[in-house]
Amino acid sequence: MDVIREFDPWDGELCTCPDKYSLNPYTGCDHRCIYCYATYIPNFFQPRRKKELVKRVKKDLEKIPHGSLISISNSSDPYLKMDKKYEDTRQCLKVLIDKGVKILMVTKGVHIKRDIDLLKKADVAVTVSLCTLKKDLKKKLEPNAPSPEKRLETVEFLVEENIPVGVRFDPIFPGSTENEIPEMVEKISETGVEHVISSTFKPRRDIWKNLGLAFPDLAEDLEELYFKKGEKIDNSYYLPREKRASILKKVARECEKHGIFFSTCREGLPELTTSDSCDGSHLIGQ
Ligand code: SF4
Repeated sequence: MDVIREFDPWDGELCTCPDKYSLNPYTGCDHRCIYCYATYIPNFFQPRRKKELVKRVKKDLEKIPHGSLISISNSSDPYLKMDKKYEDTRQCLKVLIDKGVKILMVTKGVHIKRDIDLLKKADVAVTVSLCTLKKDLKKKLEPNAPSPEKRLETVEFLVEENIPVGVRFDPIFPGSTENEIPEMVEKISETGVEHVISSTFKPRRDIWKNLGLAFPDLAEDLEELYFKKGEKIDNSYYLPREKRASILKKVARECEKHGIFFSTCREGLPELTTSDSCDGSHLIGQ
């Protein structure tokens, strides 16, 4: 396999995802999220195209079983700025639809709307990621990503077009975006989505440095919680289990209040999940 790979989140012991493949139409991403877990890829914030992408996707598709699930994308955003010009994601979608695979889109990009004609023909679900509603926080956390308002509008648009949609409210920063949980879930519920996926911030050491540069006071407040009281799992630093559970239970409660199904992502708390999949793939075909 070349550009379509088996989904393997660093062999994560806490991953509860169904078997799926991953396709990143681009290498790297220009949203520049300070918490990005994919920055181990060299020159990550200088996204580039993949040579002969469509040809390579077609070749890989010959090797995977009919009806497989392909996630687009996990280590970049399929709707980054350069995609407006090159439309590589659109070209991939066409090929995947022809092959009849199931597609799970994961994005913060709002020009997914451009591809609505294809999404309507596909066996697809879309998850749109959001981590804050606050403009000042967003500017520091996800400098080049579309605004939260535009992302919520996009979710609403997709729901109105009858595309199955979930929202990834993640990562949640303790003592910061944690305080937005009720408002965030309310805003999400107003769009009409039926599924929310959440997780807490789980930094590697290099990502922790980014947090310290952007939010020195927050990093100081959280240092002990992550590095003395927390746990290290799969190369990432986790909050103590009870703290993770208390944050995610708040999201789960708000979701229940609004009649939204809920799941967690790599938290070791499967008991909080009320949906049939953790990643939103169960929405495909609904
Ligand atoms: S959108 Fe995703 S892949 Fe892109 S920088 Fe942000 S976290 Fe990383």
